[in-house]
Amino acid sequence: MGLKELLDELDDDLQSMKGQSLFRNLRRIDSPQSDKVTVDGRQYISLCSNNYLGLANHKVLKDASVTAIETYGTSASASRLMSGNMGLHEQLERVTAAFKQTEDVLVFNTGYMANTGIIQALASDTDAIFSDELNHASIIDGCRLSRAKVFIYKHRNTEHLRSLLLDASGYRRRIIITESVFSMDGDIAPLTEINSIAMNYDAVLIVDDAHATGVIGKNGRGSSEHYPHLNPLPEGEENSLPFKGRVRVGMGLFSSESQFITMGTYSKALGSFGAYIAGPAIIKKYLINKARPFIYTTALPPSVLAASIAAINLIQKDNSMLNNLWKNTMLFREKIKRLGFNTMNSETPIIPILIGSAEYTIKFSERLFQEGIFASAIRPPTVPDGSCRIRTTITAGHSIEDIEYCIGVFEKVGKELRAI
Ligand code: PLP
Repeated sequence: MGLKELLDELDDDLQSMKGQSLFRNLRRIDSPQSDKVTVDGRQYISLCSNNYLGLANHKVLKDASVTAIETYGTSASASRLMSGNMGLHEQLERVTAAFKQTEDVLVFNTGYMANTGIIQALASDTDAIFSDELNHASIIDGCRLSRAKVFIYKHRNTEHLRSLLLDASGYRRRIIITESVFSMDGDIAPLTEINSIAMNYDAVLIVDDAHATGVIGKNGRGSSEHYPHLNPLPEGEENSLPFKGRVRVGMGLFSSESQFITMGTYSKALGSFGAYIAGPAIIKKYLINKARPFIYTTALPPSVLAASIAAINLIQKDNSMLNNLWKNTMLFREKIKRLGFNTMNSETPIIPILIGSAEYTIKFSERLFQEGIFASAIRPPTVPDGSCRIRTTITAGHSIEDIEYCIGVFEKVGKELRAI
C-alpha cells in the first residue's frame, strides 16, 4: 500500500468517526489555564480542566520555575540514568515522599509513563493483573505491554474482584490495580475492602492517585489520607527519613494492615507536570532498573520540577485552596442534581453529567460553549457506549457567581435539549 492509499483509508476512517459523532478535534486556549480561559478572543468559564486547586497559573509556582530556569537552565539534557539526574529531581522525590508519607518516591515524566512503567516492570506473562473496568487508558496500556493475564472486574465491585482472585491460581504474582478517584466518573474506589482482599488473597495493590493527589484526604495527600487506617505507621516505629514527624514507612509493605503502592501526578491538582510512584525504597530501585518509560526518556526539566516542589510546599502550608475546592464542589453538585441531572456516583470535584448518546452530548457541549462555558463532551472509547457525558470539574478558583451562572446555563440548555 502506498501513501495515497493509506491516506484514503485514514480519511474514510475519519469520515466514519464524524458520522458517529466520535471525531475529536483540538480547541486552542490563548490564556493561562485558570477558572476562565480565552478561546478565539472570548472568555469562557472553564469547567473541564484538572486544575483543581487553581495552581496552574499561581505566582509561587511560576516564580519557582523562573528561578529554576535561571539557576539550572531549561533542560535536563539526558535521561536520569545518563547525565540528566539533577538535584531538583531528588529534591522533588524527597518532598513527595514526605507529603505522601512513604519511604521513597520515583518521579516519572507523565502519569501515562508511570502507569505503563510500573505495570510492565512488575508483571509479565507469568502474572495476573486484576483491573477495574473503568481504569484509565494508561493502566490498560500498561497491562497490555506487560503481557500478563488481565482480569477485568466490574467497576468498584469487590465481590467480582474476590471471585476472580479465587479462580485465578498458579500465577507468580497477582496485582490489583485501581484508580482511587475515577477520572471520568468522579467516584472513589472502596479501597478498604480492596486492600483487605489484596491481603487475604496474597496480591499487591497499586492505586492510581492521579485525581486524588491534592484533592482527597484532610491535607490533600490522597487515598492513604482519605483512608488513614489503610496505611498506619506501626506503633513505636520511627521513620528513617530526613524530615520530621511520624511518617509511614514503606507504604504499608512493612505494616500488617496494608500493602499498596501509589501512583500520582503533579499535572492535575498540583498545577505542574509529571508523575510519581510512591512506596517502598526497593520498588524505586527496581523501577530505576526495569521501567522502560523511566529509563529511555529525557528527564523532566528544572522548571517543571521546581513548580512541583513549590506546589507541594504551598498546599502543605495553606489549606484554603483545598477548602474552597470542596466548598465549590458541594455547591455545584448539589445544585446540578437538584435540577434533575444524573451526576452518576460522583463524590469528588469530578462531576459527570450523564447525557447518553455521543451526538446529543456534543450538542449539549456546543450549546454550553455558545453560552460561555467550556465543558467538553466525553465519548467512547474514553467511556462506554451510551454513557457519553459532560465531564465537569470544579476548582478552587471558581467564584460563587460563576457557579451560579453555570447552573443557570445548565438549566436553560438542559430544558432546551430535554435532558431534564
Ligand atoms: N491516570 C489517570 C487516572 C488519569 O486520569 C491520567 C490523566 O491524564 C493519567 C493517569 C495520566 O497522567 P498524565 O496526564 O500525567 O500522563
